[in-house]
Amino acid sequence: MALLWLDDVTAEDFDSVGGKGASLGELTSAGLPVPPGFVVTAETYRSFIEETGIDEELFEAVDVSVDDSQALARAAERAQELIQETEMPDSIREEILAAYDSVEDGEASVAVRSSATAEDLPDASFAGQQETFLNVTRSDLLDKVRDCWASLFTQRAIYYRQEQGFSHDVVNIAVVVQLMVDAEKSGVMFTSHPTTGAPQAIIESAWGLGEAVVSGAVSPDKYVLDRETGQLRDATVATKKVMHVRDEETGETIERPVPEDKRDEQVLSEEELDRLVGLGDEIESYYGDPQDVEWAIADGELYVLQSRPITTIDEDAEEVEGASNGVGDVAGVADGGAAADSGGGGSAGDGNVVFSGIGASPGRVSGPARIVRKLDHLDKVEEGDVIVAEMTTPDMVPAMKRATGIVTDEGGMTSHAAIVSRELGVPAIVGTEQGSETLHDGQVVTIDGDKGTVEQGDATGGDEREPVEEVRPQAPVKPMTATEVKVNVSIPDAAERAAATGADGVGLLRMEHMILSTNKTPERYIADHSADEYVSEIVDGVRGVAEAFYPRPVRVRTLDAPTDEFRQLEGGADEPAEHNPMLGYRGIRRSLDRPDLFAHELAAFRRLFELGYDNVEIMFPLVNDAEDVLRARRLMEQEGIDPDKQDWGVMIETPAAALGVEAMADAGIDFVSFGTNDLTQYTLAVDRNNGRVADRFDELHPSVLKLISETIETCREAGVATSICGQAASKPEMVDHLVNEGVTSISANIDAVRDVQHEVKRVEQKLLLDNVR
Ligand code: PEP
Ligand code: MG
Repeated sequence: MALLWLDDVTAEDFDSVGGKGASLGELTSAGLPVPPGFVVTAETYRSFIEETGIDEELFEAVDVSVDDSQALARAAERAQELIQETEMPDSIREEILAAYDSVEDGEASVAVRSSATAEDLPDASFAGQQETFLNVTRSDLLDKVRDCWASLFTQRAIYYRQEQGFSHDVVNIAVVVQLMVDAEKSGVMFTSHPTTGAPQAIIESAWGLGEAVVSGAVSPDKYVLDRETGQLRDATVATKKVMHVRDEETGETIERPVPEDKRDEQVLSEEELDRLVGLGDEIESYYGDPQDVEWAIADGELYVLQSRPITTIDEDAEEVEGASNGVGDVAGVADGGAAADSGGGGSAGDGNVVFSGIGASPGRVSGPARIVRKLDHLDKVEEGDVIVAEMTTPDMVPAMKRATGIVTDEGGMTSHAAIVSRELGVPAIVGTEQGSETLHDGQVVTIDGDKGTVEQGDATGGDEREPVEEVRPQAPVKPMTATEVKVNVSIPDAAERAAATGADGVGLLRMEHMILSTNKTPERYIADHSADEYVSEIVDGVRGVAEAFYPRPVRVRTLDAPTDEFRQLEGGADEPAEHNPMLGYRGIRRSLDRPDLFAHELAAFRRLFELGYDNVEIMFPLVNDAEDVLRARRLMEQEGIDPDKQDWGVMIETPAAALGVEAMADAGIDFVSFGTNDLTQYTLAVDRNNGRVADRFDELHPSVLKLISETIETCREAGVATSICGQAASKPEMVDHLVNEGVTSISANIDAVRDVQHEVKRVEQKLLLDNVR
């Protein structure tokens, strides 16, 4: 039996129909209006490879050393070819086509999706199998089913199974074939308030297919209804500029402008809202838990496309939130107040405060101070210690992971200590100017990473505030925003934590931290090991992050370390001595000057793309003009990367780059990202690392804001996406400015993501309201 109808599927059929098939089957058997369809079972895939006799050749083909990227690429190609080019046995073919013909007399447009059956394997082992083909018709149905089967053997999937010791011949795959719903309206619904669990249906809706709402391409209408009385408690009608529809000719989903007269029209009628509330009731009582539902309306019929449990309800939130009915505050976190930038020299107003500095990573903890000097053995830092150092260096990262807190004499919010401690979730205070002189080894101190204070003794009263895990839950309710909110990552070890913030992707992955952590300059690393190992070092670092976020995009920046940072590493003695490293040999300048070394970074990108990480994007730092961009583009092409196929872009860090962005857009970039740490230093001529002029370092200076506004406008006209990944992205005033200017995304520090999400939401709602009024 090659297939199972969704009507007949039960939870017991998981092994045959996979996760997606089982969940759709369950919804169908609950009597919910699910578009009809069937599942080509996992056993069918098995019979296909066995009956046709390709199984042995298939498993032999993928038995390769996955560290040999060429062999891996050949293996994936061969395996996929075998599946795609082998005819299906007649019995299977006939059964699938007969089922299809009975859906809508052989005229149906269907969605064909792979459905993974090995849920007990980590996600990664199934990576690459999220194949979905929309608007499939009879003529290509069998090919698409085989394409779904072949997705078991992408490079990425082979790599992961091999790495994790799973045999290729035990994994199976099912394929769901389901009638397409050509929706006139669609959206999402929380069947209960996602924080308090109150019986309120919270509905978002827009014209056309649901992708526009789910992807944030459109600001949807929002309604809050009392599920017990059915009363509408709140409605916000948005201006809906675009809609996703099916292209009549190609059958593909395309974005179209919403006709003028429908833009400000309320999408859902009262009667439709009633039906949705009723549906919410039904789904919630079937599952016994609040659900997050995707729905669509086509030809007046209401359909459920997907339902997942809401896992974010906070039992304690009800009292506080009781009366709340706005969608904007669904997470129960007060609006505004994006991450505090304590700006240095915090004062706790407490007699115990010994000294203070810049609160660089939040949380309040205590422990014995461990003074670490340059040549110290880092083994002396034990679990629970507070590291006290002049400045942290890349080789300290393992010790920083063990530490309970970090205090440095030097550095600001963008220093190594600040970036790494935030990502590790270790409270930190930087720029104290005296920590390593004032404190002594073993002295117990309490540090407050929000206020920036160091106190004598254990002043936590046993009530330590860990930074992220406690204050901001690991699975936060992500407010829905049209502006994407991403996260910055520098150390791959922080990937999982960063992904758990619910960020829409990584807006900046700094490659230099991966190199610095080897404690060798690139030249030295290659001399001691090999160019291939250097490439692998980069591939491995990026892959960890790309995997944790997949399919969310990860923007990886090519190397950008000033010579003074390289000088601290092995091989650093050969670095040029520069008067002002910040104006010197760094970023794209260095890369263009050393195309031989730069080629290795680009080779790493190529390898990642070959491995299937199509979510990786390339970003070039410190470009000044279109010439820089075109030269980088040519090197990309020489390395076999097609700039028209991969997303790539540049940092806007110099006034020259901001003023010359139009020509850079012509060079083919897909995006720009404001590096406000550098853009501010170069616009105001204020060295970002010089404490003496720190009070003049102002990212909100009108000149910086003007450069940003004009760049966004030019980019919008040129169809180039805009983003920010400098430290200022965590400031509410900057978020306000950027959202008002129409920035595409904002990438914040890991500890600020949640606040920025809420700030973005607040500003977007204000914009909508201003529009309506
Ligand atoms: C910036 O300049 O704002 C930036 C994000 O880059 P970096 O801090 O690494 O120079
Ligand atoms: Mg920079």
